[in-house]
Amino acid sequence: MQRPIQCPHCGNDITDEDALLCLFCGESLKREIGVLGKLRANGIIIVFLVLLAFALLAVFL
Ligand SMILES: [Zn+2]
Repeated sequence: MQRPIQCPHCGNDITDEDALLCLFCGESLKREIGVLGKLRANGIIIVFLVLLAFALLAVFL
């Protein structure tokens, strides 16, 4: 699902999901926060899987 982002500098809508710079004014869209958020979400899933693995080990041992 594609959701348009708004440039924080000029306010234009950016429809390119992978765009790091604004197409209109060339300023950074500061998507690092979004990438970090995704990494954090993946980290939570990994931690959950590790805990699940330990729980399974505890059951089998
Ligand atoms: Zn802009």
